[in-house]
Amino acid sequence: MKNVVVFTGAGISAESGLKTFRDSDGLWENYRIEDVATPEAWNSNPALVQDFYNMRRKQVLAAQPNSAHLAIAQLEKKFNVTVITQNVDDLHERAGSSSIIHLHGVITKARSTLDPSLIYDIEGWQLPMGATCEKGSQLRPCIVWFGEPVPKMEEAIEKIHQADRLVIIGTSLQVYPAASLLYYFTGNAGLYYIDPKAEPKGQLPNLTIINQKATEAIPGLVNSWLNEN
Ligand code: NAD
Repeated sequence: MKNVVVFTGAGISAESGLKTFRDSDGLWENYRIEDVATPEAWNSNPALVQDFYNMRRKQVLAAQPNSAHLAIAQLEKKFNVTVITQNVDDLHERAGSSSIIHLHGVITKARSTLDPSLIYDIEGWQLPMGATCEKGSQLRPCIVWFGEPVPKMEEAIEKIHQADRLVIIGTSLQVYPAASLLYYFTGNAGLYYIDPKAEPKGQLPNLTIINQKATEAIPGLVNSWLNEN
């Protein structure tokens, strides 16, 4: 069975109604990243950051997986699939994908500010200030903020190394180290980049660019792979 890695960014969830931030002038839902998605922001105004993620969580819970998320889950009928996502939403899970690496964390979980290994499911959309872990410290969103280490990188690199086929979807490839992942790909069964704004990468001559929206391109691509001999 061939190994397929699907590497996704905010663009795949855009058609589920969740905004990307490069498409809105570098702002994320009208906020500057520095004010809501960094450890410094949390240290200077934790209530604002908590509130920002509460609102994002509310939107995520109301959103539904789209046909691109659903098609990716169908790939498991024929391939050994790993989804590596930069997204903090849980739409790949809800679409039925079973092996997902959340490089930048997931918004439906909380983590301790004292001990990052203490992670909890959040019931509903609100994580209040004052909610604490079992050791008594404040809970924060389980998100990897800009400037923080990305603990899942090693695992993601390993999966890309083992991949025969890699599909990159809906990412501006501007956020590092995540954007460096594609350069670890050595497979020989295809490398695809699906994004209306995708551009060729000089170092990757075998990259197939598909300048379409995720829901326009993915279901057809998946269908053709499922029907391959
Ligand atoms: P980005 O905002 O930098 O880039 C989004 C990309 O999606 C763009 O290249 C754009 O052309 C493309 N796009 C827009 N609509 C599309 C569609 N319908 N189909 C396919 N592609 C489409 O996003 P990024 O590269 O993922 O990096 C941003 C960071 O922001 C991530 O680390 C992520 O954690 C965070 N973020 C997450 C979410 C989410 O979880 N849904 C939403 C916004 C931001």
